[in-house]
Amino acid sequence: MSTLEVKNLHVTIDGKKILKGVNLTLKTGEIHAIMGPNGTGKSTLSEAIMGNPAYEVTEGEVLLDGQNLLELPVDERARAGLFLAMQYPAEIPGVTNTEFIRGAINARRSEDNPISIRKFLKKLDENMDFLDMSEEMADRYLNEGFSGGEKKRNEILQLMMIEPKFAILDEIDSGLDIDALKVVSKGVNKMRGPEFGSLIITHYQRLLNYIIPDVVHVMMDGRIVAQGGPELAKRLEDEGYAGLRDELGLDIKLTDEDA
Ligand code: ADP
Ligand code: MG
Repeated sequence: MSTLEVKNLHVTIDGKKILKGVNLTLKTGEIHAIMGPNGTGKSTLSEAIMGNPAYEVTEGEVLLDGQNLLELPVDERARAGLFLAMQYPAEIPGVTNTEFIRGAINARRSEDNPISIRKFLKKLDENMDFLDMSEEMADRYLNEGFSGGEKKRNEILQLMMIEPKFAILDEIDSGLDIDALKVVSKGVNKMRGPEFGSLIITHYQRLLNYIIPDVVHVMMDGRIVAQGGPELAKRLEDEGYAGLRDELGLDIKLTDEDA
């Protein structure tokens, strides 16, 4: 079993404090959700863990099985077993989807032991089939001209191909119609198992009807302010973030009060 531990994480952007002491522990075999209103620091958490240089960690640690990931170069964080699906996936013109995924898999293996092409193509074919993706998606340049739904589906394809220990999935539901949402959820649920843990970041409760989390964390103003089971997500759906905030007696301004 592996553990991903975020300890007292403080993150600043352009001198502005965004994360103000985030704590959470995720184990393989578990799926956790982080919910929270817009602008509360959810994406900041994933960007900081993955090492985006715009996000300055001023305090705290992120430990993968006791090793502080924040001290590792970015590529080694991925090698250590971490995968991040970003809210806004980058376009990489000139690199096909297939090349990118094969590169990502091999970067995580030792140099003298790349995945065999045959094995790779078989797995790619099976997973694309599973995600109802058309074959031509494999040869397109990464994310170039992909629709919102295609990008998200493709992030899940990468996830299924790379098979990381831990995945942080940031707003994989945004902009998806119900069919795409079901496919994306089906992919994440297929990954579920003792060797895999995931942190699902979402603004809406809807996704959590399809991917049932073991633990739900609610983030507001750069801190985890509440934790519970799936019922906490349901409650937020009914009462909104403002309702929970008022109940907890927090003095926080939400950017979109009706979220
Ligand atoms: P969430 O994902 O919860 O909606 P974010 O983590 O994206 O929130 O943003 C938290 C806060 O940090 C917001 O006030 C946002 O405007 C600010 N922020 C995020 N990224 C940047 C950036 N690259 N430059 C300046 N401010 C940023
Ligand atoms: Mg975000």
